[in-house]
Amino acid sequence: MKNNRINCAQCPFDMPDRLCKREDGKAPASCPTKNKPQLIEKCREAFQDPDILEFARQASIQEGEGYGFKELGYNHVRPIKPRIEEVIEFARKMKYNRLGLVFCVGLRKEAAVVEKIFSSKGFDVVSVICKVGRLPKEEIAVRDDQKISIGQFESMCNPILQALILNDEKTELNVLMGLCVGHDSLFLKYAEAPCTVLAVKDRMLGHNPLAAVYNIDSYYRYLK
Ligand code: SF4
Repeated sequence: MKNNRINCAQCPFDMPDRLCKREDGKAPASCPTKNKPQLIEKCREAFQDPDILEFARQASIQEGEGYGFKELGYNHVRPIKPRIEEVIEFARKMKYNRLGLVFCVGLRKEAAVVEKIFSSKGFDVVSVICKVGRLPKEEIAVRDDQKISIGQFESMCNPILQALILNDEKTELNVLMGLCVGHDSLFLKYAEAPCTVLAVKDRMLGHNPLAAVYNIDSYYRYLK
């Protein structure tokens, strides 16, 4: 590694041999598992809050339940459920009843389907579209030539209002569907309930941003 910056993404060791996987594992000089014992302890302290402990415990159980054929050994395990099913199961594990669903106008059809799925499973769903509030983009100093429809009134995406509404409605778990880059950040900053992401927006790639990563040596080589 070029410098001593923490960089797990470029860890040089095979996953099963890494220090974060086994006690006698290998680690580069910058390894946070090796160098951050105080933060590891601080993290443990967080689990002294029973709510945090329960949230972390259920999330970990949910992770484990995402695989089948575990009795055959690690090399045989395979995924057995889609993310939307995991969201439903996790919400049930946490005994959440009221779900928030925030979505982008561009995914309104998908949001209608997801809302029906959640409702049909017995959840009380509060869904809010990104354009809620109808505030003009001029309010955040966006120029006319920076809009999508130049010369027209254009509602801004309003993730702060989406969050304020869900906070007011006392949702217990918020599910994000296709919020834009940056809008998602603002929603996460202002939302009070825990949040999970069902889908991220990628206008070009059918909401699968990893398609560009999978094709990095061909069509998307210009990104390198
Ligand atoms: S925690 Fe350490 S061993 Fe694990 S991936 Fe990061 S640098 Fe590598």
